[in-house]
Amino acid sequence: MINVTKAYLPDRKKLDKYIDRIYDTHWLTNFGPLHNELEERLKEYLGIDHMVLMSNGTLPLQVAMHLFGLKGEVITTPFSFVATTSAIMWEKLCPVFADIDPKTYCIDPKEVETKITEHTSAILPVHVYGNACDVEELEIIAKKNDIKLIYDAAHAFGVKYKGESLLKWGDAATLSFHATKLYHTIEGGALITRDAAAEEEAKAMINFGFNNGEIEKIGINAKMNEFSAAMGLAILDDIDLIIEQREIIYNKYASSLSDQVEFIKVKKEVDFNYAYCPVKFESEDDLLQVMSILDENNINARRYFYPSLDTLNFIDEQRMIISSNTSDKVLCLPIYPGLSQDHQNDIIKLIREVL
Ligand SMILES: *Cc1c(COP(=O)(O)O)cnc(C)c1O
Repeated sequence: MINVTKAYLPDRKKLDKYIDRIYDTHWLTNFGPLHNELEERLKEYLGIDHMVLMSNGTLPLQVAMHLFGLKGEVITTPFSFVATTSAIMWEKLCPVFADIDPKTYCIDPKEVETKITEHTSAILPVHVYGNACDVEELEIIAKKNDIKLIYDAAHAFGVKYKGESLLKWGDAATLSFHATKLYHTIEGGALITRDAAAEEEAKAMINFGFNNGEIEKIGINAKMNEFSAAMGLAILDDIDLIIEQREIIYNKYASSLSDQVEFIKVKKEVDFNYAYCPVKFESEDDLLQVMSILDENNINARRYFYPSLDTLNFIDEQRMIISSNTSDKVLCLPIYPGLSQDHQNDIIKLIREVL
């Protein structure tokens, strides 16, 4: 079975060295030495100053919304994983969708502007598939309306924009280190903040509100444990290799299939991370035929993101035409280090046969 992705596992001996340290200290969680080392190394690798590691990539979205005391409406994209919208609703906020750009799949700033009301407290865009949102435009809109800008950057690990970390944009950005992501800690995630004060406040918030031994305010538990940090440290050593291997696979799909399907338009200022290989078919019918042929050959391509979130049963009537249309036609092809050339050739051949 070939899946759309295969969780990366680091060299066992390397992982064991980190786990040995856990056995030496018996320190399993609560801001332990491996957690702290991972935080430092990730900040350096990603080129950012303030980061709070968490136990998954959904909690940083919720913590950010708490941190900024959001109220009322949050403008977001319908073309994302469900966590982006459900996190908003879990916080008792109202998601208001703005449709996407049909080429970059990211939220369209012009649409965002039309959705701003006196109740809007933030914009929550997604750097979809690691492509950068129109960060300059969105910043202007947020500043002009005095609202917060939080990026769901779950796909944007390691992505640079104009030579610097894409995570530097917005009042905050969030990452997911779930096993299926480009970089993972089994389960995990992070909040990237602009300053040390927000970082400190978020760190208290994810530890039941404790700060220097005092319970300051209402908190939650979102701490990353030491075993996750061990996995993260071991994988971080391999991250450049992981991205290089994905790039090779991505480029081969692109050179073999660009005449048949549409590839995402990555902005020219972006150093891409090749986290996903989404391709857009001319019709949903083509997509379904390709999926079924792949399936018959034990190849599991996935419809990310399907359905468009505006169609979920717990969302009030807000139809997003471009997002729905994109969602109907986009398929993510298998891409991960270790996908053999033979298997990739088979996938390409099967797709070309159907089309
Ligand atoms: C994976 C993902 C999340 C959630 O991350 P978890 O670590 O699975 O909680 C949020 N937003 C987007 C866009 C994602 O792809």
